Amino acid sequence: MKQLIKVFIPKRLKRLYNVYKKKQLERSIVGDAVFCPICQSSFKFFVPGGMNYRLHARCYHCNSLERHRLLFLYFDMKLKLFKTRTQLKVLHFAPERFFYDLFSNLEHIDYMPCDLFPEFYNYQGELKVEKVDMTNMPYRDKTFDFIFHNQVLEHIPNDQLAMKELYRVMKPGGSGVFQVPIDYTRARTYEDFSITSPEARQKAFGQHDHVRWYGRDYKQRLESVGFKVIEDDFVKQFSTDDISKYGLTSNELIYYCEK
Ligand SMILES: [Zn+2]
Repeated sequence: MKQLIKVFIPKRLKRLYNVYKKKQLERSIVGDAVFCPICQSSFKFFVPGGMNYRLHARCYHCNSLERHRLLFLYFDMKLKLFKTRTQLKVLHFAPERFFYDLFSNLEHIDYMPCDLFPEFYNYQGELKVEKVDMTNMPYRDKTFDFIFHNQVLEHIPNDQLAMKELYRVMKPGGSGVFQVPIDYTRARTYEDFSITSPEARQKAFGQHDHVRWYGRDYKQRLESVGFKVIEDDFVKQFSTDDISKYGLTSNELIYYCEK
């Protein structure tokens, strides 16, 4: 018992202290210069974040990054996913916490969060993150109305097989948003499967666990499995002030795919 107390209390205290510190810091940066549309928080600034620790990137409250806030605005303003009364069956790979919370609480959405490594998700919500391999999904053909994932395909060696599976499980008339990091200076996607070490992948593909750099042909790669793809410059509808206020990346395209 004593051993248990020794092990348990310091950890618990540390956790409580960290929560207290986070709340204190959050209070100190509350302001009205920036606004996170996902968690509806306003701050003096977005804090540094992302793999390369970009300035003005992360919402201190919900941890969303630029791409997440753009997607939220796209889902809300353009796709009207949150307002529609139509019942939608939605598949989400690598579910971010804020999207998990949002989608699992919408009555008109039958939400399926999944990942190849569900053990990394400790969301403790009612919905379990299912173990699903994107290249071999356990779902019937034509199951989902809407599918989305953010920066997943660049981790998957056989991305063409994953795209075929996405197409297979999407209902005719369904749609999806499949975001990946793209190097727009490259006409063609760069991949070399002889590069396997984390160090070499970091150097070649910009991150230790990426297996390629997508180029401007990403759209054609999606089209090759059957999708109709729109490279949506939705972000252009925002003023420079709003781009700064929402903390968006001003040239990010959204890859909207229809079947
Ligand atoms: Zn937020």
